[in-house]
Amino acid sequence: MKYSVSVNKEKCIGDAICTALCSNWYMDANGKAQFRKKIINDKEYAENKEAEDSCPIGIIKIMMLE
Ligand code: SF4
Repeated sequence: MKYSVSVNKEKCIGDAICTALCSNWYMDANGKAQFRKKIINDKEYAENKEAEDSCPIGIIKIMMLE
């Protein structure tokens, strides 16, 4: 299974919770969260899901691909 991650960067409040939970995420030069890989696999899903679930404003989304 493959998944696609996305983030509404404009709304990011820069608390860096996602980056602490998942190595796919980092803070960019503007203090906004950014992913390293857009398409993730089953192994990478759990960490990214944790980041999605822990974002206080719910702007990280993971979508299952066909
Ligand atoms: S957890 Fe959400 S608000 Fe916090 S840095 Fe990550 S994307 Fe931005």
